[in-house]
Amino acid sequence: MPGEFDLIDLYFRRRSARGDVILGIGDDAAVLTVPAARQLAVTVDTLVAGVHFPAATDPAAIGHKALAVNLSDLAAMGAEPAWVALSLTLPQPEPRWLEAFAEGFFALAEQYGVSLVGGDTTRGPLSITVQASGFVPPGMDVRRSGAHVGDAIYVTGTLGDAGLGLAWQQGRRTLEASDGAAMRARLDCPTPRVEAGLVLRGRASAAIDVSDGLAGDLRHVLRASGVGAVLDVDALPVSAVVAGQADARELALSAGDDYELLFTVAPDRAGAILAGMDELALRCTCIGRIVSEPGLQLTDAAGQPFVTPVTAGYDHFREND
Ligand code: ADP
Ligand code: MG
Repeated sequence: MPGEFDLIDLYFRRRSARGDVILGIGDDAAVLTVPAARQLAVTVDTLVAGVHFPAATDPAAIGHKALAVNLSDLAAMGAEPAWVALSLTLPQPEPRWLEAFAEGFFALAEQYGVSLVGGDTTRGPLSITVQASGFVPPGMDVRRSGAHVGDAIYVTGTLGDAGLGLAWQQGRRTLEASDGAAMRARLDCPTPRVEAGLVLRGRASAAIDVSDGLAGDLRHVLRASGVGAVLDVDALPVSAVVAGQADARELALSAGDDYELLFTVAPDRAGAILAGMDELALRCTCIGRIVSEPGLQLTDAAGQPFVTPVTAGYDHFREND
């Protein structure tokens, strides 16, 4: 088994392709050049075995997801990802696990030209923390607090897939094996909507990534913006597999881990965003509008109130059903 420093050299020290990494892994801190006329957006997220993923999850998927959730947060700010740091807590330095983890992590990092510039390695119950930094032109960051009355509400991709994948994996739902595997892939290997985030920059009034469930995450936007929303539950975009579930609308409203982008936009700016999403071949659906009355009102396609108890969103410190 490799020692701490061999482990870092073996699995995590790679030559950076970025010219702005003056000093990467190997010293007490990394030294990085922030481009002129850019601000830094910084985020950190932890994945804990048994809480965010089953300990037996494919390590390549864990490596992918640990980075993906952070890139998703940068995307939701309209930031372009650049540098990441990785803090790994491992029960033991198992070479096969580390190799697969690094493979999943670096495959995604390379896809977005992101460099791993440092981290920390400790022994303990399996837990992975990634800190990510990205660039945004001054004043162009997309916040949760910018939604205005009259804005349209949009979401990228489809909702409920990852949650259905988790339910299938845990034996709480039955699906065709191929459908189950497709939903599992959405759970294990989410696609951070990095390019979509750049389309939102300077155009969307507010944005958030959907990690804890659409309704719960939309509520964060509404609270931060001091507004309310009317959502059409029949407009929520779902895959064919989710559409086949009797409670497809509840899944789309409440299931977490899809890492799609939810955003609001003034009506006269929506066209530019939709054209950008079209260029990315990314589905983008209008699901509602911002209103002055606080809170979240759910209606169906006929305009009738839609009543469901499932829209609270995940909270680590509360009893979740
Ligand atoms: P220090 O004792 O100064 O915190 P460490 O011994 O923890 O330094 O780490 C040595 C070097 O390796 C540092 O540059 C650190 O950023 C990097 N590093 C440690 N663990 C990781 C990791 N899991 N991934 C990437 N870099 C790491
Ligand atoms: Mg250290």
